[in-house]
Amino acid sequence: MDKISMVGVDKAAVLAGLYNASKPLGMGFMHYDSTPMTCEEAAEILSQQTDFDYLKGRVMKVDLSGHEFDPWGYDRDNGEGAAQAIVDGIRETNEVNPVTSQEKHQVGTMEQAEEVRSRLHEESRTEHLGRNTVVMHLGLNDVADVLGPAVDRAMGDTPVMGCKEEDCTGTIDWTKRISLQTGCRSTSPAFPCAECGRLHWSSGEMVFNRQEGRVFLEDGCLVLRNEDGEIIDL
Ligand SMILES: [Zn+2]
Repeated sequence: MDKISMVGVDKAAVLAGLYNASKPLGMGFMHYDSTPMTCEEAAEILSQQTDFDYLKGRVMKVDLSGHEFDPWGYDRDNGEGAAQAIVDGIRETNEVNPVTSQEKHQVGTMEQAEEVRSRLHEESRTEHLGRNTVVMHLGLNDVADVLGPAVDRAMGDTPVMGCKEEDCTGTIDWTKRISLQTGCRSTSPAFPCAECGRLHWSSGEMVFNRQEGRVFLEDGCLVLRNEDGEIIDL
């Protein structure tokens, strides 16, 4: 397949355009964020990384380091000609999230959610093809309890989920979404308990920082507390 030229177009626009039309696959739902990417955000990401496998859970499979890129990996999951159509669109209108991309993203995400849901309770198994070939089929059963709620969240369903903080009887407030930095160039959405403010990931698991500090949202600010409930400096 021919490579796609990026000569004369803003590379950040290409990244944002590809991202906005793409969709989460499988475990990608754990990091899925429905917010579209802006050119500014894409430029910041590109200053640190140019080769993408997944980006915030969405399948990308593109290397944007040069003046052209191979669309094979992106098109495999997003449809033949998908990458070219996005770059053509940017050349014409300079828009990184046109209605066509919004629809493609919506439909793709819904289809993938159904796909994941149908596989949630499959066990991993191995299949023997001939004497020397063993194929491993990865089931999602092992991760169903965290992946299931993440898919529900992505679909805009709001499962009632209890706060996991000890002795708290509150529930997670899915309407208050906080973007937490989870790597040099990635963020994941987190949601506070309506009662105590304890932050939870979209999977329903509690958020800890690297030092095992417990993260709370209190009066609009992120607060870290240690095991005894004392505030630790960020
Ligand atoms: Zn709570």
